Amino acid sequence: MKTWDVVIVGAGAAGLFCAGVAGQRGLKVLVIDHSDKVAEKIRISGGGRCNFTNRLLDASAPQKHFISQNPHFCRSALSRYTTQDFIDLVQKHGIAFHEKHKGQLFCDHSAEDIIRMLLAECAAGGVEIRSGCAVQSVQAPSDNQPFYILETQQGVVQTTALVVATGGLSIPKIGASDWGYRIASQFGLRLVERRPGLVPLTFDGEAWAPYAQLAGLALPVGIETGEKKNRMHFDEDLLFTHRGLSGPGVLQISSYWHESTPIRLNLAPEVNLPERLQEAKLRSKKLLGNELASLVPSRLAEAWVSQDPALQRTAADVPDKALNKLAEALSSWQLTPTGSEGYKKAEVTLGGVDTRDVSSQTMESKQPGLYFIGEVIDVTGWLGGYNFQWAWASAHACALALAQKHAA
Ligand SMILES: Cc1cc2nc3c(=O)[nH]c(=O)nc-3n(C[C@H](O)[C@H](O)[C@H](O)COP(=O)(O)OP(=O)(O)OC[C@H]3O[C@@H](n4cnc5c(N)ncnc54)[C@H](O)[C@@H]3O)c2cc1C
Repeated sequence: MKTWDVVIVGAGAAGLFCAGVAGQRGLKVLVIDHSDKVAEKIRISGGGRCNFTNRLLDASAPQKHFISQNPHFCRSALSRYTTQDFIDLVQKHGIAFHEKHKGQLFCDHSAEDIIRMLLAECAAGGVEIRSGCAVQSVQAPSDNQPFYILETQQGVVQTTALVVATGGLSIPKIGASDWGYRIASQFGLRLVERRPGLVPLTFDGEAWAPYAQLAGLALPVGIETGEKKNRMHFDEDLLFTHRGLSGPGVLQISSYWHESTPIRLNLAPEVNLPERLQEAKLRSKKLLGNELASLVPSRLAEAWVSQDPALQRTAADVPDKALNKLAEALSSWQLTPTGSEGYKKAEVTLGGVDTRDVSSQTMESKQPGLYFIGEVIDVTGWLGGYNFQWAWASAHACALALAQKHAA
């Protein structure tokens, strides 16, 4: 039977990138994926344009943009394979891209460009890819045989090193599974509890009824959750949905939000509402709702005013108390989500293989010869290309370590 130097399970962002780098350094690499189509998450990422990295990533302070029980774990890999390194590769392949917002880099044409690039890098490294191939069991090396033995749907495979790149639990319908976590448990590695991240938040049907009519409305907001040193704040867009809230601001805050705790929204972050409403009261004969509609989107103004009869009169006639209450409610709207849309809508999975059981230099776990890369590890980035950069960087660190071990 052929012995592979490396078998990588998961032909997503991290798995394909690791395979190409290791293959081009002379290793015999096999990639296995249970899905028929590889890299499905790249294909749907960034609205089909793949936000493949972020220029603002600060590898010296990873806690700014990454969540983990140990946010410093990702520092080494991120500083050894940087945003610029990936941009150089994208440019080498002639892929056109642009910067959108807060350092986020997207393909001009399609996420398919990134997939083609990864597959070309794999081909250059002589990598074999088997898709539509589930792995049924993994047996560790023993005294009798020095290899990992994998029983797969396409036969038995034997390898010196096994890399788990099966990603997180989000979007099960395109191939996400808990396989990586199960393998970690099989070998006695610790897991950090998983939960959906970068996910829309939902609210109780009845309590949400007055706002359900706002579905489709998007506006810039300040959004925060947590208290004191755990307080997190984002200035980003918010989107009202039929069931709750979405948009970049909510996705970002969802990764920091804990069940039964509130979020706070400033729906008019660029306006001094108490001042502007008082000013309107002094000079205006218009309905307060109309005045408010010049300060916040008119649908929002209408939804708010319609909930309080004291506000349904000319601005001049609204009592100060009601005006102040309105300003306070809009600039510090506190509400407690009942839940989230879960893994079917989440972009990432928080938690995963505990970093205490993985080397930050090589991605090798405490089980010799068993490596973990990408989202399966307890490292989760912000929205904006940070998760892909973690996939590239952890894959690169792993591939270099494998090549070094092979050469030794
Ligand atoms: C809708 C959406 C949009 C996103 N947009 C962005 C973005 O623009 N920028 C960004 O940085 N991040 C984005 N992300 C997050 C990003 O896609 C992931 O963080 C990243 O793909 C993780 O890379 P990975 O290689 O660890 O896992 P994945 O890319 O998910 O790859 C895992 C692979 O493992 C395979 N697999 C799973 N289980 C098994 C098994 N049992 N046997 C064999 N194979 C298995 C899967 O089929 C898959 O091919 C987005 C995510 C989603 C869901």
